[in-house]
Amino acid sequence: MTFKSDFRKSGARVRRAGGGPRRGGIAVGGGLGGLLLVGLFIMLGGDPAMLAGDGGGPAPAPEARQEAGADPCETGADANRRADCRVEFTGISLDRVWAEQLPAQAGIEYQAPELALFQGSVSTGCGAAEAATGPFYCPADRTGYFDTSFFDTLVRLGGSDGPLAQQYVVAHEVGHHIQNLEGTLGRSDYGNPGADSDAVKIELQADCYAGIWAHYADKGPEAILEPLTDAQVAQAVETARAIGDDSIQRHSGRGVNPDAWTHGSSEQRREAFLAGYRSGRMASCDTLGRGAYR
Ligand SMILES: [Zn+2]
Repeated sequence: MTFKSDFRKSGARVRRAGGGPRRGGIAVGGGLGGLLLVGLFIMLGGDPAMLAGDGGGPAPAPEARQEAGADPCETGADANRRADCRVEFTGISLDRVWAEQLPAQAGIEYQAPELALFQGSVSTGCGAAEAATGPFYCPADRTGYFDTSFFDTLVRLGGSDGPLAQQYVVAHEVGHHIQNLEGTLGRSDYGNPGADSDAVKIELQADCYAGIWAHYADKGPEAILEPLTDAQVAQAVETARAIGDDSIQRHSGRGVNPDAWTHGSSEQRREAFLAGYRSGRMASCDTLGRGAYR
């Protein structure tokens, strides 16, 4: 259990983007399998071609299907039971934390991102994407996109299926939205990868911002999470490690090549999350060295 089970939301926090049917066999080998680059996609990790894995991926979770009119996600208890509700309620928690912390620490007013759940494929302000892309943030429409089938991919990569591990994924993408509000997200350039690249710095900062959310998410009267346990935090850390570039390169059967990194190593991602989690301070996430935080 993570969310306070009697917490009741006041309105929908996710858009159900519908999305087309999953294509049989996702195209791999085009490099960016299924992903049409129109705008800037900011991903959770790795190479989308690799995330397509064996070309199929798991079937969409039945729970993501929804009859018209029925909202399956009303209370914290729903979010403790269902991955789609967990994404939505994590969004509510993120809004509460960042509405307070972003003005206090960076002097920037928080404007909430859109959050969208989809299955299979979706069209976005950045172009068309498929579930194989993994979760991503599109700055053009200020939306984080999530297909809950990715949580199974995370487990195959060695991550955890624990609730905080999944919440970390949402918090990382909202971290990119925070960078968008800060005006720094455009520095990410997956076309110029490498261990010291701006792409890696932006990704590690998003991990650190996810840690900041976790730091505050169970504190104060606004908190909708029960106190985090050490075991939950360990699950998030384990998941940050699993999607490190070296880990993903190993899983794909390629050698570890830091020159191709876009998201940082397992150790860097672990440390980034923990830096934010332990301090709660944006200053401890200043991978770009801006010195802009209070
Ligand atoms: Zn990212």
